[in-house]
This record gives sequence, structure tokens and C-alpha cells, in this order.
Amino acid sequence: MMAETGYGEITTPQTLADAVAAMAGGAVPIAGATWLLRAPLRHEVLPERLMSLRGLADLQVLTIGPRQALLGAMLTHDALAGALVGHPDLAGLATAAGASANPGIRRTATLGGNIGTRGFAASDLVPALLAADATVILATGQGLQSLPLAQHLAGRGDAGLIVRVEVARSPRRAAHARLPMRKAGDYPCAIVSVSADLSSGRIKDIRIAVGAVEATARRWTSLEERLTGTTLDPALAEAAARQLTGDFSARDAVDAPGWYRLSVLPVLLRRAFTQLEV
Ligand SMILES: Cc1cc2nc3c(=O)[nH]c(=O)nc-3n(C[C@H](O)[C@H](O)[C@H](O)COP(=O)(O)OP(=O)(O)OC[C@H]3O[C@@H](n4cnc5c(N)ncnc54)[C@H](O)[C@@H]3O)c2cc1C
Repeated sequence: MMAETGYGEITTPQTLADAVAAMAGGAVPIAGATWLLRAPLRHEVLPERLMSLRGLADLQVLTIGPRQALLGAMLTHDALAGALVGHPDLAGLATAAGASANPGIRRTATLGGNIGTRGFAASDLVPALLAADATVILATGQGLQSLPLAQHLAGRGDAGLIVRVEVARSPRRAAHARLPMRKAGDYPCAIVSVSADLSSGRIKDIRIAVGAVEATARRWTSLEERLTGTTLDPALAEAAARQLTGDFSARDAVDAPGWYRLSVLPVLLRRAFTQLEV
């Protein structure tokens, strides 16, 4: 299906194969459009050829199984937040989806758009998914491919259509803490997502991801090592984080200078740890 609009040509493929072919022909995927259609505000040119993802059933999948969660790229933040309630290992992602942006954006912006947007430092879902050790499933000319999210962010997923995200389930707890400069509708200036196995009374297999501080979210591995084997203690976690903020080269931007992002990171870590206690 193809239509001409004020924004140029929009195709609506009904199969993954057609979508991959359209992308190869230069069509740019459009999901919730909350980023793409604001291109002129960023002084960017809108793509000439767009491809709506609304006809692709594979991108709508939502399965929270005992071993794995399959989260389709077209799920909105709202849908994700609702579906993940009551699962401690997915609580960080549920908070990220349910607290991001504002209610209108959450009803429209999608998982695929959030992790597929280049140059978007303040995504809430990306650090939550890094802490969940998520895998991205892409449709490419060579078929479906799996890529750890960090590799996708590093640019190795450039060629593909995001079909879904997969998260392996295990008895662990997760949390997400963010600091917007105002209460609502703002991008966060720093984000901390944590996921850990606490079943032994000591911290095991902890993953800590930081967003909005550098251009791309990433794991805070030195802090993970420091906290492994300790008991769950928000004050101790904050103190350890304070010693290790030098691991980041924080970005200066209109919402906040780099030094401020670094100064709030330990506090966000404490808040995330406090959520893990509940
Ligand atoms: C005022 C405002 C505040 C916001 N605050 C936050 C916030 O606090 N936290 C937060 O996380 N987000 C926030 N957002 C949302 C975020 O900025 C993006 O707009 C949103 O995540 C993009 O999702 P979308 O579905 O609208 O993507 P679109 O705008 O449709 O697409 C964005 C990009 O992703 C690509 N893309 C989309 N789907 C796929 C796919 N399946 N495969 C490959 N590429 C794809 C598109 O080609 C495009 O390049 C905010 C947005 C606004 C407007």
C-alpha cells in the first residue's frame, strides 16, 4: 500500500519481507512519529520516503512468559508499563515506560522508536533494557538477526528493522530512577537502571546502566564490580557511586551541564537501591 501525503510518500508493508525491501529502497520506518515529525524543530529534513509499521503484526507481539519476555517494537510506553506490572525482574522497565515523557507521548511513542532513534541520549527504555540484558531482534535482508542491545546502540544494528526485544527472565529485582529538571514532560538529565539477583541476601549478577549522562547509555561496570557480594544498602551504594563518577565523560546540553549530571548520579543510585528494598 502506498500513499502521498504532505510529508511525502508513505508505504504500509504488511509483511516483514516487504518492509525489509522497502527499507533497502530508502524508506525510513515511522512508528509513533513523536521523534520523526519533530525533525523541523531540530532543523533536520524529513525523510522523503516513509514506511508505516502499523501493518506488521510481528511488531505487536507481547508475551510475558516464565522464561522470556517478548516485547514487540510497536508497543507503546503505556502498553509496556501496563503489561509489566507485578513482575519484579521487569519492574525497572515498567517504571521507565510508565514515567517517561507525558501521558500523551506515552500513548503514542513506541519501544522500537525509543531504541531506534539515533542521537537520543535521554531515552528511558534504553538503560532499563541494558540493565535487563535485553536482545534486539532485527529483520534484515539475511533474515532475522539477534543482537545484544549494547551492540545495536554501537551502530551494528543500523541496517535492520527492529521487530522485537527479548528479555530472559530470572528471580531478580529491578528498578529505575530518573531526574527530570521539571516534574512533567521533560527529558531526564540523568537516569540509573539497576537489576540484580538478591536471592542469597548478597548482591549477585548486578547490572547497572546509566542514561542521559553521555551521548549513549551504557553499563557502569566498575560500580557493578564494587557492589557485587555486598548487602543491599542504599547509602553504601551511593557512597560507592560517588567515588566512581569519574568513569563518565558527561555531556553539556541545554537541559543541564555535565557536572550536574554527574553530581546527581549517586543520589539516583541510592533511589534505585531503595526501590529494590521494597
Ligand atoms: C515532549 C517529549 C518528551 C519526551 N520525553 C521522553 C522521556 O522522558 N523519556 C523517553 O524515553 N522518551 C521521551 N520522549 C520520546 C522520545 O523522545 C521519542 O520521541 C520516542 O521514543 C520515539 O518513538 P516513536 O515511536 O514516536 O518513534 P518515531 O518518531 O516514529 O521514530 C523515531 C526513530 O526510530 C526509527 N524507528 C522507529 N521504529 C523503528 C523500528 N521498529 N525499527 C527501526 N527503526 C525504527 C525511525 O525511523 C526514526 O528514526 C519524549 C518525546 C517528546 C515529544
